[in-house]
Amino acid sequence: MPPSVISFFADCPICNRKVSGVTPILGRAELTEVLARNGDVRVVHMADADHKWSLGDKEKANLRKQMAEGLV
Ligand SMILES: [Zn+2]
Repeated sequence: MPPSVISFFADCPICNRKVSGVTPILGRAELTEVLARNGDVRVVHMADADHKWSLGDKEKANLRKQMAEGLV
């Protein structure tokens, strides 16, 4: 996994639980930019690449906060 890939806990809608998710396309700078304009953040379940979804507003707000606090 390239070091630019961001991983964090996210609710996988297929597994219906918190899992390790990654943003496969976005590095940190791009992810920060997409979050700032409330754009589409695609997430892939790290353990099962067939599970893909987009973050909702609440999850994006949470991720924004975690990144601001240096947790992600
Ligand atoms: Zn899943």
